[in-house]
Amino acid sequence: MKDDCIFCKLANGIIPTNSLYEDEKFKVILDANPATKGHALILPKEHADNIYDLPDDTAAEAFVLAKKLSAKMRDRLHADGFNIVQNNGEVAGQTVFHFHLHLIPRYADDGQVIGWKPGKPSAEELQKTAALLSE
Ligand code: 5GP
Ligand code: ZN
Repeated sequence: MKDDCIFCKLANGIIPTNSLYEDEKFKVILDANPATKGHALILPKEHADNIYDLPDDTAAEAFVLAKKLSAKMRDRLHADGFNIVQNNGEVAGQTVFHFHLHLIPRYADDGQVIGWKPGKPSAEELQKTAALLSE
């Protein structure tokens, strides 16, 4: 646990909060500033700043948990779709530096925009990038 980390405190019950789910490794809470109704955060109890620091088993279990909760949100909140968002680094929109997965139920009329501007790289550029990453 990192002393000055708000998500460590929320995940480990130092600061009380709502809880949708809890086990020995994770706590799932509602986001205080939700994009949509039901927007939740999967918080590992053990501190990791971001995905680079996250243990493999925690990464795998977090996604399985996201899968279970997505089905629950679809059924109980009648969500029409679902985004899973995970930001790493300030430039990518991370504001709390304790790894978390955003679970964002989507509704036909929710008016949210979650995404990016599509680029138009040449075939050569795409091939170069693929080569760089597959080496
Ligand atoms: P990030 O931008 O790091 O991916 O996401 C941080 C998220 O944490 C934001 O959506 C923000 O609303 C949420 N958040 C920040 N502080 C608190 C808090 O004290 N309680 C809860 N429930 N959510 C928080
Ligand atoms: Zn933390």
